[in-house]
This record gives sequence, structure tokens and C-alpha cells, in this order.
Amino acid sequence: ESDPTLRPERLPEDQDRALRPQSLDEFVGQADARANLRVFIQSAKMRGEAMDHTLFHGPPGLGKTTLAQIMARELGVNFRMTSGPVLAKAGDLAAILTNLEARDVLFIDEIHRLNPAIEEVLYPAMEDYELDLVIGEGPAARTVRIELQPFTLVGATTRLGLLTTPLRDRFGIPTRLQFYTVEELNHIVTRNAMKLGARADEAGAREIARRARGTPRIAGRLLRRVVDFALVEGDGVVTRELADHALNRLGVDDIGLDSADRRYMTLIAENYGGGPVGIETISAALSESRDALEEVIEPFLLQQGLIQRTPRGRMLGHKGWAHLGLSAPKIAEQ
Ligand code: ADP
Repeated sequence: ESDPTLRPERLPEDQDRALRPQSLDEFVGQADARANLRVFIQSAKMRGEAMDHTLFHGPPGLGKTTLAQIMARELGVNFRMTSGPVLAKAGDLAAILTNLEARDVLFIDEIHRLNPAIEEVLYPAMEDYELDLVIGEGPAARTVRIELQPFTLVGATTRLGLLTTPLRDRFGIPTRLQFYTVEELNHIVTRNAMKLGARADEAGAREIARRARGTPRIAGRLLRRVVDFALVEGDGVVTRELADHALNRLGVDDIGLDSADRRYMTLIAENYGGGPVGIETISAALSESRDALEEVIEPFLLQQGLIQRTPRGRMLGHKGWAHLGLSAPKIAEQ
């Protein structure tokens, strides 16, 4: 199975926290999103109102949670955090909403996984800062309306397509996060090395940045592992050579793909002649959930042009064949 240090899922909070940028100025990359957010934050402050509801979407590890925290800090309000799957009952959400102070930021991660009954409660809360709660059951049931403080909902999702239209429409500021360039990741790795008190030279940092799948969370994680190798097997300095050696040992290849990425591509090449093959078939063959494939593995491979999505399924692209060192089969007939 794939090495969990390579996947962009969450680390225990305290491990991530040390590396989190604290302000918009400190946040590297996402230039367009950042410039717009700066305007909306300042405008909300000038008007003395809650900032409009904001939706961040994009692959895991690109900074959605970080930006939500930065928004709260720059707005000078409290930050409250929960997630779609954690909210089981409408009452759970009601408890959180009624405890918000004026203009607070409420962050809901994985908002595409909210249960529909809770989503219903969220609509009037987002629109009118009101909560309609049903008290009691059967003929004795009645609805009470509770006034809420104005607040900003910040939603995050890796799967924009799974959001219902009414929920999506209630976000005034939808923002897509992009994969980072090597240049941006290099900046992040260099700064993180300083924060960790590690020594990395220019070429060493760049090697990690180049192989981090466009993702700051992966860059942070790879840096920690490479620093381990530098301390134990080197002289403590992350050079290009040392980084290359450590990343190879971790199964991260020259363009940053890990064993799970390569298994995915090899399956399409060797078992399905390069595709097209349906996602359900790939999921069954790899024993990986379809969600994990679509959220974690595919976005980067698509962005790199290593695979393609067609109406009939996934296909290996020319770059994908070349990367595996295989040649694409000749097309026999039209
Ligand atoms: P997401 O919520 O999109 O999954 P996070 O906000 O939790 O991602 O970010 C993952 C990790 O990457 C955190 O440790 C964070 O500090 C770091 N990170 C994300 N974006 C940036 C950035 N632009 N600059 C520096 N570090 C970042």
C-alpha cells in the first residue's frame, strides 16, 4: 500500500500548525484569490459587516483551511471549525450557530458531505441569519425562529460537483484553488526549513519543491522526511543530492509521483491498453475508493496531462506512456 506520508490528507493538527502561514502577506501563491480576498476583507471591515460567505474548492492540501483561518485573523473575529461528516443532527449545527459572535468565521470542511436535513437548516442561516428549529414531534411539533448574529460561513470542498445547487448559490465568493508552481513551492519549502530550524541549500529546497505534486501539504511533509535523512545519513544539510536520495527512498519519483500514482497509471497501461476505462473498474482493480481516486490521485495526473478524462472513461496520455517508459499501442482501426 502507498506510504501515508506521501498522501495529502490531514496530519494531526499540531503537526500542520507549525507551518501554517498566519497572514495573507505570508501566504504564498494563489495570487488572484489572495488579491480578491484582500479587497473583500477590507470592504467588510470598512462597512463593519460580516464578510460574504466564501467557498474554497480544489484538491486537498492546497490551503483551504489555512485561508479560512487567515480570513478570521485579518477580519479580527473568532474562528470556529467543523466538518460536514461530523455534523450528525440539525441540533449540532444549531448549537454552533447560536454560539457565534457577530461577524465570526464558521469554517465547514468537506461541506459536500453535509447531510441534507442539516443543509436545510443552513439556508436561512446563511441568507437571513435565522434558524428555524422544529421542537417536539408529531401533532405537538412546532417551529421556533431564532435570530443569529451575522456571520461568515467558509466552506471547503474537494468536490465542487457534489455540492447541491442551492447550497452553492448561497456563497457570494466562490474561489478555486490551483496547484502551486515549483517556484511558489520552492519559496514555501525554503521558509518551512527555516521554521523547522533545518538547513537546506537552494538546490535541495528546489528538488523537494519540484517533487511535491504542486501541493504545499506534501512539500511540508516531504521536507520533514528529507530532514530526517539529512540528520541520520548525511551531515544535516539538505542538498540536492541528499534530497534526491531521500525522495527515491520514499518512492517519490522524478516528477513527484508516488507508488499509488504509478499503480494507477500502470493498471490503465497494462490491463486496459491505455483506456478508456471506467473509474469504477479502476477503483475495483486497485481496491481504492472511487472518492479517493477522484479527490487525491486524479487531479494532479490530469493537471500534468498524464491522464485524460473522456466520456467513456480514463485514458493514459502520451506523457503518461512516456513517463512509464512504455510506448502507446498503435491504433489498429478507426
Ligand atoms: P486544505 O485545507 O486545502 O486541505 P491546508 O490549509 O490544511 O489545506 O494546508 C495544508 C498544509 O499546507 C498546512 O500545513 C499549511 O500550512 C500548508 N500551506 C497551504 N498553503 C500554503 C501556502 N500558500 N503557503 C505556505 N504553506 C501553505
